Amino acid sequence: MSEILVLVEQVDGEVKKVTLELLTLARGLGTPAAVWAGPGYTPDAKAKLAEYGAEKIYVAGSEEITGYVVGPKAELLAQLVAGKSAAAVLVAATAEGKEVAGRLAVKIDSGVITDAVGLGDGFVAEQSIFGGGVNVQSKVSRGTPIVAVRPNSTAPEAAAGAGAEEEVSVSLSDAAKSARIVERVKQEKGARPELTEAAIVVSGGRGVGSAENFSVIEGLADALGAAVGASRAATDAGWYPHQFQVGQTGKTVSPQLYIAAGISGAIQHRAGMQTAKTIVAINKDPEAPIFELADYGIVGDLHQVVPQLTEEVDKRK
Ligand code: FAD
Repeated sequence: MSEILVLVEQVDGEVKKVTLELLTLARGLGTPAAVWAGPGYTPDAKAKLAEYGAEKIYVAGSEEITGYVVGPKAELLAQLVAGKSAAAVLVAATAEGKEVAGRLAVKIDSGVITDAVGLGDGFVAEQSIFGGGVNVQSKVSRGTPIVAVRPNSTAPEAAAGAGAEEEVSVSLSDAAKSARIVERVKQEKGARPELTEAAIVVSGGRGVGSAENFSVIEGLADALGAAVGASRAATDAGWYPHQFQVGQTGKTVSPQLYIAAGISGAIQHRAGMQTAKTIVAINKDPEAPIFELADYGIVGDLHQVVPQLTEEVDKRK
C-alpha cells in the first residue's frame, strides 16, 4: 500500500493529540508515515508515533526547518511526496498546517482540502465550508491529495506500527528561507488544554457580564478539564484575551462537547464551533438563535446555572 504522509505537530518534542488522530485516519487509507520536521525528535516521540500506527517515521531534524516560517515544511513534504510516491498528505487544520497545505499544493500542483472533519475511502473528505454553514463531501481530482483535518474530528486509537526511522535531509530554496523566525516567546503553559485541541470547551459571551465573572466559566471548565473560549463580544469588551475568541475571526474548535454560556449564536460565532459533536447552550432568552444549533438547551441565568453545573460535576468526580 502507498504511504500516507502525516506531518507531525509537536511542542518541545511532545507529539500533539491531533497527530495521533491523523495517524488513526491514515491507517484506514494506506501505510501511515509520520514526518518529523525540525529538531527535538526523541525516543518517546518515536514510541508514541509507532504506538498509533506509524509504519515509517521520516526525521528531518535540521534546525533550518523550524528556523523559517512554514516554507521549509512545505518543501520537505514536496520532496517526500515525489521521492516516496506518497498517496496523500495529511496535516492538522491549524493556522500553520493550513498554510503548509496551501504552499505544498502549489509546489506539487495538487488539490488541497482544508477543514476536513472526516476522511474516508478514495480520500473523500467531509469538509466544513462557508464559515461552517455547510458540510460537503469533497475529493481532490488533481495530483496527490492534501487534506487538512480539524483537531478532534477523529478519536485517536492505538494500533502498533513498525516505526521504522529514516533520516531525511532537505536542501531549502531561497524562497523557503524568505521569512526567518527571529524570536520565539513561550506562552505560559496553563493547566487547561489548548483551545483548538481540547475535547471539551466552555465558552462565555456577553451574557457573562464582566471580566471578573469569567471565573464562573473557568470554574466549570476546570471541573470538566476543559479549555475556556469566548465570543467576540466578550473579547472585544476586554473580559477575556483575544487568543481565546471562537469564531470566524477567532479560533475554530471541534470538541466533543461545547458549552456556550451567554452567547446568542451569531453566524460568525457558529463558524468557529458548529462542528462540535455535542453543543450545550445556556441562555436566559428562550428565543436565542444558539438553541437552533444546540443538542441540549438550558434556559436560565448562567450565573445560577453554571455554578450548579460545576458543583454537580465536582460531586461526581
Ligand atoms: P450577544 O449577541 O450580545 O448575546 C449575548 C447573549 O447572552 C444573549 O443571547 C442573551 O440572551 C444572553 N444572556 C445575557 N445575560 C445572560 C445571563 N445572565 N444568563 C444567560 N444568558 C444571558 N463573534 C464571535 O463570537 N466570534 C467571531 O470570530 C466573530 N467574528 C466576527 C467577524 C465579523 C466580520 C463580524 C461582523 C462579526 C463577528 N463576530 C464574531 C460578532 C458576532 O456577529 C456577534 O456580535 C457576537 O458573536 C455576539 O457575541 P455574544 O453572543 O456573546 O453577544
